[in-house]
Amino acid sequence: MSKTTLNGPSRAEAKRMKRMEKKKRQRRRGVVLFLCVISAVLLAFYFYPSYVEGVWFLHREPVADETDSANPAHVADEKPLSPEEEERLSIVSQLSQRPNEMGKVPIIMYHAISEPESDWVRTPENFKKDLERFYKLGYTLVPFQSYLSGEIDLPRGTSPLILTFDDSTLSQFRLIDGDYQGSLGKEFLPQGKMPDPRCAVGILLEFSEKHPDFGCAATFFADFPAPFDVPEEVEQKLNFLLACGMEIGNHTYNHKDLREASPEVVQMEIGKQSNEIFNLTGVKPLSLALPYGNYPRIDEAKKYLVKGEFEGIEYENKGILLVGAEAALSPYHKFLDPLALPRIRGSEEEITKWLKYLDTSKTRYISDGSVHTLSCPEEELDNIAADLPNLYELVIIPTEP
Ligand SMILES: [Zn+2]
Repeated sequence: MSKTTLNGPSRAEAKRMKRMEKKKRQRRRGVVLFLCVISAVLLAFYFYPSYVEGVWFLHREPVADETDSANPAHVADEKPLSPEEEERLSIVSQLSQRPNEMGKVPIIMYHAISEPESDWVRTPENFKKDLERFYKLGYTLVPFQSYLSGEIDLPRGTSPLILTFDDSTLSQFRLIDGDYQGSLGKEFLPQGKMPDPRCAVGILLEFSEKHPDFGCAATFFADFPAPFDVPEEVEQKLNFLLACGMEIGNHTYNHKDLREASPEVVQMEIGKQSNEIFNLTGVKPLSLALPYGNYPRIDEAKKYLVKGEFEGIEYENKGILLVGAEAALSPYHKFLDPLALPRIRGSEEEITKWLKYLDTSKTRYISDGSVHTLSCPEEELDNIAADLPNLYELVIIPTEP
């Protein structure tokens, strides 16, 4: 029987119990402190991942951003990059360090895509090589109308390039028997027909299916009586091109040299073409490529290049293209004249010369990745157009040391 039940605890017993009580309290405090520390670390890890990144045992791998379209390496399916994608990625990441939205934009002018190669003919193989070259150098196709409106929406470090085709020849758009595998515009193709993979449209669509980040924007400057030469296919072809996001431009109805033309002839040539395209597609052309690059000599006739009417229907051209012979100014440049835009002939020599020049002279347009900002090198500030709509926030890129 214990002494406590009868006489209460002895002094020695009481001391022992006190010691045990103290130890118990210390243990409880220790446990509470430990739980506090663990909770604090977990909370910090959850709310401030970057703060704890440096601590090795708290480090966690960043989650890949699957919406990062500029870097195909990060897309969900983790497909390995092709050599041309690798090359593009490396150039784009280098260029993205110094955007220049006051730089020049190449507008390439093609005529026939056929054999044999000559000044005005590019072979299908060489046209394919041109697209590969543009792609690897970090260019992306933009619609001509986006350039004219100054809405160039490209990933940072890439450059706009505009493709144009004059004369609406069969070599630009030819249909052959076959099952069209593309994703755009199928509803407009005649049953059992597909674009010839050796015509400009076929080559362009195949390339952009393989490289969606390159796009397939292009403008076809059409003339009549039958754009792309097969009368019974005209309506379907024009609508197919529009469904693919391409544009139809004006090249006059009869491919008329307008140098000696009267005001009436200018209005008839441009208005009749515009009306025909509108009847067939519901969309009016918004730009004009001058046949032979010739403006009317008579001032009275010249003004009808931009606006006029034919048979009671109005037309308007927001851009006029010449035949030669350099890269076009930035859409934000004070000297830009949208009614006299130069083009680069789609030949080996001219393409090589101008693309090289844009890089060595550092005058190439390089996007900053946002449509809302205008990234302007310090030394170009005086060249910004005064009448730019108040849409852009100016970002000044300091002059290189
Ligand atoms: Zn022409």
